[in-house]
Amino acid sequence: MASDPNHDVFDIVIVGAGFVGLALARALSVRSQGNLTIGILDRTEAVTSSTKSRPDARAFALSASSRYLLERIGVWSQISGDAQPVEKIQITDSPLDAGVRPVLLAWDNLLETGDPASFIVPSGNVLDTLSTAVDDDKTITTYRPVTIVSIGKTDCHHTITLDDGRVLSAKLVVAADGRSSPLRTMHGIDVVRWAYDQHGIVTTIAHSKPHHATAVQHFLPAGPFAMLPLTGNRSCITWSETTSNAERILAGDDTQFLEELDQRLAGRLGAFEVVGPRQSWPLSMHLARSYIADRFALIGDAAHGVHPLAGQGLNLGLRDVAALVDVVVEAAGLGLDIGRLDVLQRYERWRRSDTTLSAASFDGINRLFSNDVALLRSLREVGLGTVDRLQGLKDFFIGEAAGQAGELPMMMQKNVA
Ligand SMILES: Cc1cc2nc3c(=O)[nH]c(=O)nc-3n(C[C@H](O)[C@H](O)[C@H](O)COP(=O)(O)OP(=O)(O)OC[C@H]3O[C@@H](n4cnc5c(N)ncnc54)[C@H](O)[C@@H]3O)c2cc1C
Repeated sequence: MASDPNHDVFDIVIVGAGFVGLALARALSVRSQGNLTIGILDRTEAVTSSTKSRPDARAFALSASSRYLLERIGVWSQISGDAQPVEKIQITDSPLDAGVRPVLLAWDNLLETGDPASFIVPSGNVLDTLSTAVDDDKTITTYRPVTIVSIGKTDCHHTITLDDGRVLSAKLVVAADGRSSPLRTMHGIDVVRWAYDQHGIVTTIAHSKPHHATAVQHFLPAGPFAMLPLTGNRSCITWSETTSNAERILAGDDTQFLEELDQRLAGRLGAFEVVGPRQSWPLSMHLARSYIADRFALIGDAAHGVHPLAGQGLNLGLRDVAALVDVVVEAAGLGLDIGRLDVLQRYERWRRSDTTLSAASFDGINRLFSNDVALLRSLREVGLGTVDRLQGLKDFFIGEAAGQAGELPMMMQKNVA
């Protein structure tokens, strides 16, 4: 096999060089100290300095645990200059035309160590930095843009044939190819999925009043409207609307878009202007029925997709990364075959319950808040008022935002060499 110049042999091949696939490649390389051979492929062109400004309006809320992982794989120092620590979180809930927006729940978003529990980071910085780190890592081989023509399997390898005639073999193939994951379909793994009748509208604004490092989630009947603080006097607006409203808002001209924003910001950030693209994503939830098959694992959005209201989709994907790295590197260290089903079952047990619980919780919050039913409004006012008085429950929220609940994989822990 190895004598064929068109046939490359790896321990692991990752399909999808998005946020999660790139992070996995680097984490495997770092944690195995270059002892695992890694290939990664994507159907799109590489991110280069000329495509760096490709617009993705989103900014991600990254948890403290995700930050520790990004530190360990050597990319946080390049991201941190654009990462805005979130020091406070406020939840408000009132109709669009309400004169007053009482704060229902507020907490300091700091860990006992004094570290912020989360940061807001422009998504483009994260992707560019991960791409550069993978390009600079000599133990990782990248193939892009390429298309998979076929996948085959023997007892000890998966074989991937690419459209340029090359063949890649690996003991383990990981699908990090996003929500619609063609590789998941090729493996016949079904998903539980439902679409919300909502779109997520995203843009960036510059404003005259300071945001005081406070993230605000304002629940409106059509869906949550989040003001996420960025460095400087800027904020990323991530705003869920019913699909028909979103279509109307996005079709409007700049003046109409500003008016819609103005109504929702309600003067909180002072005078403002839009300084980034306006974009939208259809919102849905999905969970793969299985996260593994023989010599195969799903990771990131290929395995699960959640409502963005809690800003946890990528954090969950990075947690998959750190858990899979623990499982694979420990198995390799014991001389086990890393593609064996019983090795991968440990990854699935670890990640499936956490992601299922998260998806169900965010779904429930969205359903509870995205309506204007008087009884539900009273219930959430009473409920959130109770939480506001209980420090123990606030500590629970801080732990969740920091991504520190449950069994933490090694690379997501602070101060472990
Ligand atoms: C509006 C919005 C706001 C969000 N905000 C947050 C937030 O604040 N915090 C947070 O943690 N998460 C957030 N998320 C979720 C986050 O965007 C996703 O969880 C994350 O992008 C998933 O990354 P991924 O690498 O798994 O998938 P993707 O980013 O979709 O990457 C998949 C990659 O696979 C490649 N690919 C696809 N098919 C193939 C194929 N057949 N062959 C080869 N390559 C292929 C694609 O080109 C791409 O590079 C948000 C999502 C939305 C929609």
